[in-house]
Amino acid sequence: MRAVSVSTDALVVTSGFWQTNAVALRAGDEAMLIDSPYLPDELDALPSLLAGAGFEPDGLLATHADFDHLLGRLAFPGKTLGLCESSVERLHREPGGAQRALRQYDAEFYVTRPAPLALGQVQGLPVPGSVEIGDRELELHPAEGHTPDGMAIFDRAIGLLVVGDYVSDVEIPWIHEGGSVADYRATLARLAPLVEQATTIVPGHGAVHPRDTALRLLDEDVDYLDALERGEERPLPNGRDSKAQRSIHEENLTRV
Ligand SMILES: [Zn+2]
Repeated sequence: MRAVSVSTDALVVTSGFWQTNAVALRAGDEAMLIDSPYLPDELDALPSLLAGAGFEPDGLLATHADFDHLLGRLAFPGKTLGLCESSVERLHREPGGAQRALRQYDAEFYVTRPAPLALGQVQGLPVPGSVEIGDRELELHPAEGHTPDGMAIFDRAIGLLVVGDYVSDVEIPWIHEGGSVADYRATLARLAPLVEQATTIVPGHGAVHPRDTALRLLDEDVDYLDALERGEERPLPNGRDSKAQRSIHEENLTRV
């Protein structure tokens, strides 16, 4: 697990697994954690890491309801988890789905955990909308298409945009179950002007980007979606042409 401070009020924690990013934000004496690292040891170390850096969270947010972004509760069992309303609906449509997916991947990679994932009560947030943290406002923007749910979180005051599973340098656009190419395109179009106004862009997986890199990845992702809809066999962008990404492309081909 790597923790990198991207501003005095923002810390990005990157998991050793899938390069999954979590973002801790603070304003005054309030702090919030967006998404989560993945591995049990990382979740175990997270409370003292955040407390030591002055980011002990008062609440949790997740960009979308994929299991690998919902693990904050394992590190902070008592904290409120805020999700966009489309994510709350998805959890209700698929009861136990996140827990099943986590168990399945843990079994595949021989990962054991001290406790099962309990999501308990989640708080649904209207999106578009905003949440307050200290004296700052976090803008919530819809980000669907990878899955049927999701939001991007923009801390405009510090120029930090947390996008969820979009604009990644390690993952191609992934049209997961319930997602769609049309929604994915709409999200990229919505993210483009936000990226223009941001200085730091944090994807769900992979490197944290400066604006120019994120804009280049957005272009590559639109080109990829064009090629996907033409049914091309090997349209993967440079640097993302791995076996794992080719199998995501195979899955995507079944959804166009
Ligand atoms: Zn993810």
